Amino acid sequence: MDLKFYGNSEPLELVRRMILKGREQRSIMIHGEKGLGKKHLAQYIAASYLCQRHDGTPCGECRSCRMIMHGTHPDIINVQANANGNYIIDESIRPIVADSAVMPNESRYKIYIIADLDRSVNTAVAVQNILLKLIEEPPEHVAVIMTARSKEIFLPTIISRTLPFAVSSVSEQESTAYLRENYPDATGEQIAQAVSAGRGNIGRCRAYLEKESFFESVQAARELCDAAVTGDGYRILRSLHAADGKKALARESIELFGEIVRDACVCRVGEAEEKMSVSCYAQGARKLSSELSAGACTDLYDTVCDYIGRIDANCNLSLTLNSFAAKLSQAVK
Ligand SMILES: [Zn+2]
Repeated sequence: MDLKFYGNSEPLELVRRMILKGREQRSIMIHGEKGLGKKHLAQYIAASYLCQRHDGTPCGECRSCRMIMHGTHPDIINVQANANGNYIIDESIRPIVADSAVMPNESRYKIYIIADLDRSVNTAVAVQNILLKLIEEPPEHVAVIMTARSKEIFLPTIISRTLPFAVSSVSEQESTAYLRENYPDATGEQIAQAVSAGRGNIGRCRAYLEKESFFESVQAARELCDAAVTGDGYRILRSLHAADGKKALARESIELFGEIVRDACVCRVGEAEEKMSVSCYAQGARKLSSELSAGACTDLYDTVCDYIGRIDANCNLSLTLNSFAAKLSQAVK
């Protein structure tokens, strides 16, 4: 793991100032959508707290920073969830509370990182109830960092004692700089494609470049947009059918298509270009907006949301895709 964190200068500056003033916050929550680097930020903050130079940012060279980069620092405890993402109270949470009384091995702090708490569907509340005492009155040498996609899963009693950090997306320049540094073999064109698909989400940019499932979803969403622009009902049906039997692909590609439609709505009402930046296909959104009235655009956006709901509700996928194809064809006729 490297100790560089792109964008998000405000939270990083806040961490730096807390450390310089000797007022490290002992309970932190990091929230933001998937792919923005919440776990990486947790490691970065931990590294900043433990860096032996103690100047508010991780130097990347001292013994502590090097151990963190190698994932071997004995005072950073990455609490483990089970394969489904659930934290098992007796196996992973109660032991932390017991262990927290023990002094750190070699640092000023012992830092517990509890990542993806929102994935712990069965135990997210129980985890927080068990941790409450620790968060209310942490021993001098303890800090707890939690991450989740949404702040909503946190209990009010935890929120009131915890410093929240919202991780935000990064600029195109920052995404480009990150990808150039981490993918030296990628061509300029590949990087530009990944940046446009990931729209400020480094995790998405990486997934695109590494041709993970996100890549396929982006391709499918762009193809669906092109099909919609032509108004060709058969092509719309065909592009949606490519996801038949693949629920995750269907959901993600329709969701990405929804973002393109949202951009088309923004474009349609003549908003500034920078507001039209949520989707992976700005050019497609512009074309789509010229095919639809403003009202038709927002109706289509509602339709997309409705169909995502149907997929989530486990409606029959083939029928759902057929029905969505018919609606979409009607909308762009
Ligand atoms: Zn250091």
